[in-house]
Amino acid sequence: MFYQVEPLFPGLTRIWDVARTAMYLVEGKDKAVLIDTGVGVGNLKELVDSLTDKPVTVLLTHGHVDHALGAIGFDDVRMSPLDGEIYQMHSVFEVRKDYVVSSAMYGGNPALVVSISDSDYLQPRAAEDFAPLAPGDRFDLGGVSVEVLRGQGHTPGALTMLIPEWRILLLGDACNHFTFLFDQWASPVPAYKEMLLQLKAETEGRYDRVILSHGNGEAPVEMIDSVIEVCDEILAGKADNLPFENPLGSGLIAKAMDFQRFCRADGGAGNVVYDPKKLG
Ligand SMILES: [Zn+2]
Repeated sequence: MFYQVEPLFPGLTRIWDVARTAMYLVEGKDKAVLIDTGVGVGNLKELVDSLTDKPVTVLLTHGHVDHALGAIGFDDVRMSPLDGEIYQMHSVFEVRKDYVVSSAMYGGNPALVVSISDSDYLQPRAAEDFAPLAPGDRFDLGGVSVEVLRGQGHTPGALTMLIPEWRILLLGDACNHFTFLFDQWASPVPAYKEMLLQLKAETEGRYDRVILSHGNGEAPVEMIDSVIEVCDEILAGKADNLPFENPLGSGLIAKAMDFQRFCRADGGAGNVVYDPKKLG
């Protein structure tokens, strides 16, 4: 079985894919929303059909390889058109396979990864198959709703989502304990900080739980404030600035990490990996 199902409470289910990326199934009385679809190894549609009998709308937080590739079989899939180009590049088979193989080294399950054959990868869909999704969109599921909010920076079309009835904010990859903000599509730090200030104003007092797409899926409630502080330290020239390299490019890690526990060495909540050439 390529997916792990983690029921959080009636109506909210976290699903982990082979590369340990989290998706969320939100169910109301009438409808359901699936937030993200993972890297697309194993039949996700079949799994979701076994979990809910409600009509499912799929909302993609952004177009990255680990979030948007399991969408085949679903009738109604939505993503920001601003991430179309990234999505197409990340749909390439080799990019997906490299991601899955490297995930085994970073918290994934090596035995599971070795068991995957090429035919287990779902067919990617064309970006044109996706309906547009944008901040301000709202999905009423019957007794519970999903509000789509801004989140751009990590990618141009990145989105965050609020479930106001349950006071839960999904920050996904948009703002987390190791926010990637260094590849060619990422925002400069000042524009990213401005986005966070606006997101903070829109969500203040409306949530008391933050969920993510990586790590253990949970984050301290002060995550937005913490990442705003990190941006301020970067812009003031006071960050730790440790080098970071990966296949997407290279950047600077703003705050020193304890990589054994994959958290900030000083115990702070949020962190940013940024491109020092994009500070203005
Ligand atoms: Zn991402």
